[in-house]
Amino acid sequence: MALSDGTTREHGPWLRDGEKQRLRRLEKKSARQRAARLPGQRASHRLARTYDRIARLRATAKRRAVDWQHQTTTELAATFGVVVVEDLKITNMVRSARGTVDDSGRNVRQKAGLNRAITGEAWGRTVTLLEYKTSDRGGHVVKVPARGTSQTCHQCGHCDPAARAGIRYACVNPACGWAGHADTNAAINIRNAAGTAVSGRGDLGAARSAKRQSPHAA
Ligand SMILES: [Zn+2]
Repeated sequence: MALSDGTTREHGPWLRDGEKQRLRRLEKKSARQRAARLPGQRASHRLARTYDRIARLRATAKRRAVDWQHQTTTELAATFGVVVVEDLKITNMVRSARGTVDDSGRNVRQKAGLNRAITGEAWGRTVTLLEYKTSDRGGHVVKVPARGTSQTCHQCGHCDPAARAGIRYACVNPACGWAGHADTNAAINIRNAAGTAVSGRGDLGAARSAKRQSPHAA
């Protein structure tokens, strides 16, 4: 997660290398055990056990992710009265990636990668946690549309998709030349977009999902 003050909140992988290897082995094993099954035959005791082990590892990863989200949102809610976040229509995006009647799977591959990053990071859950934690302390969350926040330079307002390369943003306006973390730039834009709506409140913090913005850097 990138904040408008230039800091980030990082987390390690939810599963350690050994756990990831074990998960991959178990997934292959379950495929073999499924393939060995006769049509109509119920899942064997062995296959059920493999499923259990897979589910336990996935639950471990999820528990670690939720723990991290709780820690991070508690810290943000304790630090800022108002937190501005980008408003992502997560469910709409996930739906469109599977292909709809009017857009039968165009850009599906690209969107599927993005959606994996979004759902993997569970940005929606982070926002929900932030909403109740800030409101418990008398603050609140402001959602602003994400449109243009990644491509626009926060310093001079110049907008050019070419300025962004991976996790770097380098303003192409020669009179400006600001360069830094692409998600920090976007977070500042998000904060500025909400600035007028929440002026006078002070304690303005902005956060965005870094993984959504830079899925290939994960
Ligand atoms: Zn600039």
